[in-house]
Amino acid sequence: MSGRYEPVIGIECHVELKTATKMFCGCRNEFGGEPNTKVCAVCLGLPGALPVPNRTALQHIIRAGCAFESQIAEFSKFDRKNYFYPDMPKNYQISQYDMPLAVGGAVTYWMEDGTMRECRLTRIHLEEDTGKSSHAGSGDGRIAGSEYSLIDFNRAGVPLMECVSEPDLRSPQEATAYLEALRRTLLALGVSDVKMEEGSLRCDANVSIRPVGSSQLGTKTEIKNMNSFRSVERAISSEIARQVAIVEAGGRIEQETRGWDEINGVTHSMRSKEEAHDYRYFPDPDLVPLDFAATEARHIAATLRELPAQRFERYTREYAMGPRQAAQLIDNQPLAHYFERVLALGAPPAHALNFVLGDLSRLANESGTPVAQSEVTPEYLNEVIALVEARRVTSKVAKDVLARSWHGGGSPAAIVEREGLGQLSDREALVPLVEQTIAAHPAVVAEYRAGKHNVFGFLVGQVMKASRGTADPVIVKDLLNRHLARE
Ligand SMILES: [Zn+2]
Repeated sequence: MSGRYEPVIGIECHVELKTATKMFCGCRNEFGGEPNTKVCAVCLGLPGALPVPNRTALQHIIRAGCAFESQIAEFSKFDRKNYFYPDMPKNYQISQYDMPLAVGGAVTYWMEDGTMRECRLTRIHLEEDTGKSSHAGSGDGRIAGSEYSLIDFNRAGVPLMECVSEPDLRSPQEATAYLEALRRTLLALGVSDVKMEEGSLRCDANVSIRPVGSSQLGTKTEIKNMNSFRSVERAISSEIARQVAIVEAGGRIEQETRGWDEINGVTHSMRSKEEAHDYRYFPDPDLVPLDFAATEARHIAATLRELPAQRFERYTREYAMGPRQAAQLIDNQPLAHYFERVLALGAPPAHALNFVLGDLSRLANESGTPVAQSEVTPEYLNEVIALVEARRVTSKVAKDVLARSWHGGGSPAAIVEREGLGQLSDREALVPLVEQTIAAHPAVVAEYRAGKHNVFGFLVGQVMKASRGTADPVIVKDLLNRHLARE
């Protein structure tokens, strides 16, 4: 990318909402299934069928709006967006035009290095999804020699949130960081499962460039067909490079919609961009306007808990966590909850974090049991941390005891007590172990005395082993040094 140009990026997301039924009918809202089995007169747009809005979907939009501090509309309505598309049976989509449910607000996101940024939102509105077409080529035997399309209406009428950002993003990396934050927040709010691979999160990017220092917006293109966060980043980078090359060669950017070609790594022209008037929006006469939002919004706003961005800020600021560690906990809510319970018992955050993301996560991976459901309760982990803090056990014993507690051994403090695993820092008690070790390895001792000092670690290890890991390593090293110095 040329340093003389600044990219200006805005993101438009479509998010399928998590509800039991579709937006305007009682059909199940579920991903997949036999084609055309979750359909009825309403979502097939048969004559005379009347839509009834899904209350949960409306609440989800308001919940998202409250989370991003958008202004929730006191009065809102549904409009018909008219266009012909084979997988849209009514030939119009019920959407919202000039009175969306939520206006303004911002998404707080963070970059890989932990810096936090904000991208303003234009609006969040509610609409219905279309069906799905699959295009089949000739030669698969069903219709010999011809090309045809199949249409599945299971998705038609699924509640869809459209979330439009302002062009506040300045790099492909900012665009994906924004999307990550949006995904995490919607997941935490429980409004969608936001899976890009199942299409419950889809996004388009508006990209333009302008000379660095300019505040005017250049002509933008809209990029579609990106099916992963990585494609988003690649597609935007490729589009920026294309635009810079055109402008530097004295050309002009056309306003158009471009598709992302994942295999060749380039965008290609799809069509010239529609203007709003192409859609002939008008209020849907089958649906009454909505005016319940104000009281509902107050009620919903009161139920919001700490959001991912707030949690990220708290973790990195109060507990000095690295951005990756914080993200690891934010992406695993039960683990984060477990971690917070250990802190509530008084454990120091650094110790708790090390055990939770280290030993406990490893044990969880090995056994297939999540940490939060394991035998090691937050109280048990707190016991281990207290033993380490008081220097009553070595870190090696702490690991062993934790593993035994994980496998049903019960209280770590009781294991240490019962088996005498408390740290051995009594010099008198350690002297025989050091002497035995020296006597047992005459060849190694001779090597050491001949100047090969790197065998020292081996001897320390042998003493530690003889003490079953309980010896204080500082004292062991000191005793070994003294004994080896004697001849
Ligand atoms: Zn239906």
